[in-house]
Amino acid sequence: MKSRTKAVVIGGGIAGCSTLYHLTQEGWTDVVLVERDELTSGTTWHSAAQVTNFGMNQTMVGLKTHSINLYKELADDPDYPINYHHADGGIRLANTPAQMDGYRHFASMARGMDVHFEVLDADECARRHPLISTDNLIGGLWDPLDGDIDPAQLCQALARRARKAGAEVYRNTPVTGLKQHSDDTWTVETTKGNIDCDVVINACGYRVNEVGAMMGVHHPVMSMEHQYMLTDTIPAIEEAGHRMPLLRCPISDYYCRQEKNGLLVGFYEQDCRTWGMDGIDPNFVNALCPDDLDRVIDVLEGAFARMPALEDVGIHTIVNGPITYTIDGAPLVGPIPGKRNAFCIIGLRAGLGEGGGHGWLLAQQIVHGEACYDTWVLDPRRFTGHGNTELCALKAIEDYQNEFRFHFPNEHRPAGRYAKTTPLTPVLEAEGAEFTVVNGWERAEYFKPAPDFHVTHGFKFDEAHDIVGAEVAAIQSAVGLTEVNGFNRMEISGTDAHRFLDRMSCSKIKSAPGKISLAYLLNHHGMVKSEVTVANLPDGRIWVGSAAAAEWHDRDWLNLHIGADEDVQVKTLTDDHTILLLAGPKSRDVLSAVSRGDWSASAFPWLSVREAFIGIAPAVVMSVSFSGELAYEIHIPNAHLYAAYRAIRGAGGAHGLRLFGARAVESMRLEKGYLHWKSDLLTEFDPFETGLDRFVDMSKPAFVGKEALQARVEAGPQRKLVSLHLDADHAAAHGGASVMVADTVVGTVTSGDWGYRTKMNLAYAFIEPDLAAEGTRLAIDVLGQMVQAHVIKPGPYDPGYTLVRP
Ligand SMILES: Cc1cc2nc3c(=O)[nH]c(=O)nc-3n(C[C@H](O)[C@H](O)[C@H](O)COP(=O)(O)OP(=O)(O)OC[C@H]3O[C@@H](n4cnc5c(N)ncnc54)[C@H](O)[C@@H]3O)c2cc1C
Repeated sequence: MKSRTKAVVIGGGIAGCSTLYHLTQEGWTDVVLVERDELTSGTTWHSAAQVTNFGMNQTMVGLKTHSINLYKELADDPDYPINYHHADGGIRLANTPAQMDGYRHFASMARGMDVHFEVLDADECARRHPLISTDNLIGGLWDPLDGDIDPAQLCQALARRARKAGAEVYRNTPVTGLKQHSDDTWTVETTKGNIDCDVVINACGYRVNEVGAMMGVHHPVMSMEHQYMLTDTIPAIEEAGHRMPLLRCPISDYYCRQEKNGLLVGFYEQDCRTWGMDGIDPNFVNALCPDDLDRVIDVLEGAFARMPALEDVGIHTIVNGPITYTIDGAPLVGPIPGKRNAFCIIGLRAGLGEGGGHGWLLAQQIVHGEACYDTWVLDPRRFTGHGNTELCALKAIEDYQNEFRFHFPNEHRPAGRYAKTTPLTPVLEAEGAEFTVVNGWERAEYFKPAPDFHVTHGFKFDEAHDIVGAEVAAIQSAVGLTEVNGFNRMEISGTDAHRFLDRMSCSKIKSAPGKISLAYLLNHHGMVKSEVTVANLPDGRIWVGSAAAAEWHDRDWLNLHIGADEDVQVKTLTDDHTILLLAGPKSRDVLSAVSRGDWSASAFPWLSVREAFIGIAPAVVMSVSFSGELAYEIHIPNAHLYAAYRAIRGAGGAHGLRLFGARAVESMRLEKGYLHWKSDLLTEFDPFETGLDRFVDMSKPAFVGKEALQARVEAGPQRKLVSLHLDADHAAAHGGASVMVADTVVGTVTSGDWGYRTKMNLAYAFIEPDLAAEGTRLAIDVLGQMVQAHVIKPGPYDPGYTLVRP
């Protein structure tokens, strides 16, 4: 066994084998995999191993395409062929119009990745799958490349190729400890000796937290018991003359694929069970949980009704094994929060289908610092302090119970709610707030007109559309108030703080006390990494603020770059303070009524910051605006939040103050031309492609990503972010929708919403640069309908910025 290597992958299931193989493909050949037992002896060996191309965003679709191409290549390798039923085809069923809209949107999104799903009606579903009835069926989504693979053969094939490239695999070698040294390298302790390495990768499946504990980390990953059954031969399958397509059913919560001449049917029962919450037997190896078909009777009945042939066939095997879930159902693939040179590929609930792609994207991140796609949807830093065992268990159960029922836009499910709140949460709830969840925080989405008001979730504009419009109108004509909790806020201190921030950002950052700058951070490839507000408080403190979800991402990125000779400290204040956002032409009047001092435009112009009292509450007030109206962000310590709120509410009455929520903010920022981190600000594009030219100062002597950006400028843009005005009023263009010229995809929407003040249906999209000129006419595939659109100047609302500077 080697005593020194570049990277140690811990775990020899599909996650570990794929990572090992892809590390060698990215150029790291001095790498090893250590496995406590035999390869695939965790979950992988008994997987149903379906391999679909379906995903709900382009990153997932792209990585699954990689899996499919790789598996096909492995299956066709004459030296070591493996069993892969490639392209049997598969159908996701639907019995509601809203589900069908979702499928139309996913088909539009996938088209941008050169993946061609088809939306079928019920009869066509039955024609392609001769065993199904069309009762209670509207239609489905056809994935032509759906199939299944032999999981053990797949892992052996990947390990074999990795070994050929120079990697080593140590079986029966449990990892027993992990130590990190002051130079950020690691020692991996095993029962057979120690291995020193630069990078460790946790790929331990359901034992993820045993290995996590060795580095002092708890990962928000939970295991659920999951069962499938295998039937005897079904004569209709024998007679069909072709393989049955796969089925996934959100109506009765099962999946089904052909196995020999019978079926394999897997269940997502409502009466489901977590597994291993109180520890896992060390001898649970190549093992299964006791089967229990009684608890899946509800699902079985649905499957029998859809496929009557199941009623007459014997069941010869039942498999029940642990399958891992995370808080939002997507895996954790990327850097481990708060650690250096440590990565994970965990929480895979569809690891056979996705594993090829996840290992590919992870290896790119390890070797090159970033992957070819923006991987935020997989990033382990997307859950922060709320990612504990109990919350994860509740979300895992909820997700399992809804396995094939995708989330609709603005849908936030009830399990594990109120994970992060402020003293205002119950107050706003009493005012009628409907909450959305942002990084675990309950944030007001809009205010309901009646306690029993609720919306029907779907992809079209819903019943809250006009309510949000009324909130926007109140802001535009008078003043509105909302709470922005969980806003990421870091205090940067030390004598080198400004120099450090200047080096981290491609933008000019003001250092004068009382001034605020909006700045962009790039990665080493010159691509957009983060968007931050840098506020120089009058007393010399520097606050760096960014999106709530960016809390751990931005903290780790900044910490990683503090030089050994730099005096810089980063302290997180996110949980201590909350923003009260006051917006509208009367916001200055309200502020002046609750706070001493001169708040006039000359004394406190746009992009200023000062400390003040709001009534009796201490506050940091910033004159910044995401809405395009005169606005103030009032940052209050949580202990004083209610006092500040009462003062503002009290004074606001005389000025027509109305509460508003996050949906109004989303609409207004699109009208104003502001971008949203990880919707429009992505690591796949540089700041010039993203239209941030005015924030890039190439005359600065150095900043992270400058050289790479220079090279990109010389090569010319691949894409350009544009603003689009759609000729439609039934639905927004959701992120992922394809932008078309005739039958050709020329771009992808990143976000879209109705602009109430401009009365425009607006969207941002990255499109081919030669189509980016204002006035260019395009079409957008919105829920299967080609909607006409044209390119407009970004920020159609108050283009002269007269309203924010009165
Ligand atoms: C019944 C069932 C059906 C499924 N069907 C499908 C499907 O149709 N399609 C699909 O894509 N997915 C399916 N899945 C999910 C899929 O099987 C998993 O996502 C995948 O196998 C997880 O692989 P993994 O490598 O993350 O974990 P594992 O396969 O569990 O591998 C982890 C490895 O880490 C090793 N390890 C743990 N601790 C240590 C240590 N201390 N030192 C060294 N090694 C260690 C373990 O021994 C194990 O080999 C199914 C799962 C179940 C349970």
